[in-house]
Amino acid sequence: MIEVKEISSSSFGLFNQLAQRDHEQIVMCQDNATGLKAIIAIHNTVLGPGLGGTRLWNYKTEAEAINDVLRLSRGMTYKASISGLNLGGAKAVIIGDAKQVKSEALFRKFGRFVENLSGKYITAEDVNTTTKDMEYVAMETDHVVGLPESMGGGGDPSPVTAYGTYMGMKASAKKAWGNDSLSGKTVAVQGIGKVGYHLLEYLHKEGAKLYISDINEEALKRAAEDFGAIVVNGDDLFELEVDIFAPCAMGAILNTENINRLKCQIIAGAANNQLADEVEHGKMLVDRGIYYAPDFLINAGGLINVYSEYIGYNRERAYGATEKIYDTTLDIYALAEEKGMTTQAAAIFMAEKRVNDMMLVKSTY
Ligand code: NAD
Repeated sequence: MIEVKEISSSSFGLFNQLAQRDHEQIVMCQDNATGLKAIIAIHNTVLGPGLGGTRLWNYKTEAEAINDVLRLSRGMTYKASISGLNLGGAKAVIIGDAKQVKSEALFRKFGRFVENLSGKYITAEDVNTTTKDMEYVAMETDHVVGLPESMGGGGDPSPVTAYGTYMGMKASAKKAWGNDSLSGKTVAVQGIGKVGYHLLEYLHKEGAKLYISDINEEALKRAAEDFGAIVVNGDDLFELEVDIFAPCAMGAILNTENINRLKCQIIAGAANNQLADEVEHGKMLVDRGIYYAPDFLINAGGLINVYSEYIGYNRERAYGATEKIYDTTLDIYALAEEKGMTTQAAAIFMAEKRVNDMMLVKSTY
């Protein structure tokens, strides 16, 4: 006989959490046999089914996992909307240590939960999940993208993400200097993983002078050899006299302390949620005269690529749609100027406007 303890009334506030960011639904997925503990959060499906990857992370508490999935799923609504995609915003997290919990059974069980949502949620890979894991998910549901090319998918979305980030960077150069050439410009890239490496490739080809930092020595060595990039010690990157800083590692990287040390004129990178506080730090960047290309706009190439997979994969179409990030970035700088907003606020404004406009379209049958 299992002893079931009831939860104290003070420990909840979940509906309040959902209401604050206007979420539609969350689904808790639990399975003793496989050890699966997952949360699927569907933020908004006005534009289409909610698409967002599945993050596997060893969250210290359930509250931490819920906060993460709520924050990330809302970001997906904005990313899809501003990119002109007919997709809503959603995300999933699986709680556990990636080195210990991964198994075919776990991902197939998760796939069954996704299947039960009948297409309202479409999953893909994210931090600590791979195309291989998605192959297992695909054994139980069709509502999964980010599959290998051998299965008709678009493969790793990172090169497309890098291309979009490069487009956002060039548009920012156009705004700041009246010319989008990056030849001879100095660019500091933090994090040279899947996206950062491909970004360096574009920048090197165009003749930019590159500075890099990473915690992975191997990755640094490879990029230094391949692109003649200069290795900089971690934190020193913030004080470097460069034209452009490209955060491509982790989120919440821009804060009160390091924004004051920055000497760049543009920030344009692929990392998600770069501003530790999107209001306060967005404003600080304006005050310091730094052009900030909103992350969810310029890192949308990967989402555009998996969306292409969802409607029938076509690589040229995915790259073509990603190239439009250039124009949208310029539109955001113009809107921010016109309305006296930060670029982050302008991008959110534009994303929310499209959701609201389409809600009106759908209000009649
Ligand atoms: P990745 O894990 O391949 O690369 C991240 C790199 O950052 C690694 O080389 C890692 O060693 C390095 N890193 C970690 N901590 C660091 C630190 N403190 N200082 C310097 N380097 C550090 O990830 P990725 O797929 O290249 O994604 C990079 C960022 O872009 C992430 O924030 C991710 O959420 C975001 N993003 C990625 C995609 C995509 O298509 N892969 C799409 C949208 C957004």
